[in-house]
Amino acid sequence: MRRTAADPDTERWLERTAPRASACQQCGECASVCPSQRQGGIRPAEIMARAAVGSLRPDDPALWLCARCMSCSERCPSDADPGEVIASLRERAAERGNLPPYLLDEAERFKKTALCFPRTGMTKKMRKELGLPDGEVSERAVRECGEIIRRTGLGRFVRE
Ligand code: SF4
Ligand code: SF4
Repeated sequence: MRRTAADPDTERWLERTAPRASACQQCGECASVCPSQRQGGIRPAEIMARAAVGSLRPDDPALWLCARCMSCSERCPSDADPGEVIASLRERAAERGNLPPYLLDEAERFKKTALCFPRTGMTKKMRKELGLPDGEVSERAVRECGEIIRRTGLGRFVRE
């Protein structure tokens, strides 16, 4: 596979990522343990192959199908650390504003309600079954989540 043309900034980033991805021997161990791939999601070995030659675009939607379980990295016999390569690719995508809209919605909800997912009848029922409180979030918790968003830099992606 040949490296595709990219802007100089992306080119530098690809050069930093490629050496780690190049350690991949395409043994397929990561594919065998990846829960996302089992559900038709991300294919870590394929991501590594594309990252190694710099043909992966930072806005590739497949990157966001990784569940960050790190099973691939634990299993990788070449210490290629596919989970971290994918994380680095996502970081880069975020820096360039290539976050999927559903994640932006989650971040916005987190800021406003301190919850990433809305409370539904189903979640309330499950909480009750588990003996947990109803799940009302205090104003203090919402303020603290706002602070987390500010300190982590997530705020620049969240609509006011
Ligand atoms: S387990 Fe490691 S060496 Fe094997 S395909 Fe996955 S990343 Fe490559
Ligand atoms: S970290 Fe991502 S790519 Fe690796 S096994 Fe988990 S879901 Fe798959």
